[in-house]
Amino acid sequence: MPTTKSPEETMQLAENLVREIKSPVCIALFGELGAGKTVFVKGLAKGLGIKDIIKSPTFVLMRSYSGRMKLYHIDLYRIKKCEEFLPFEETLMNDGITAIEWADRAADFLPDKRVEVCFKILSSDKRKIIINDYRD
Ligand code: ADP
Ligand code: MG
Repeated sequence: MPTTKSPEETMQLAENLVREIKSPVCIALFGELGAGKTVFVKGLAKGLGIKDIIKSPTFVLMRSYSGRMKLYHIDLYRIKKCEEFLPFEETLMNDGITAIEWADRAADFLPDKRVEVCFKILSSDKRKIIINDYRD
């Protein structure tokens, strides 16, 4: 069960994960505010060779980036519960990695085949990060 001791280690974990990913997938991120979800997405971007600065898309809902694969970064923090979730329409899901912060808020719309990453704050710099791969 991985525990990271710095933001850099969390980014490295994400880079390692994304290196194994060769086809489009949804990465659902769970965990409280400050747990490291955005830091993890920065690591995904780095692993995909994306040079842009990753800013949390809290107010725009989604930002997209181009690298080895497309990266769609969604943040549902401002959404209580999704009634419908348009970005999951097939075109989007089929051509890149879709990383979703606060994925619990779109629970009804998450594709079955996904990677789940759960973050838990252990102390100021320590995070427990559990990755479950349901891509089969
Ligand atoms: P979230 O998106 O889950 O709300 P962020 O990734 O924006 O959280 O912020 C995580 C904060 O915690 C950052 O300020 C980061 O520097 C800090 N931090 C400290 N230790 C870690 C760690 N091990 N992994 C990730 N972030 C960490
Ligand atoms: Mg965030």
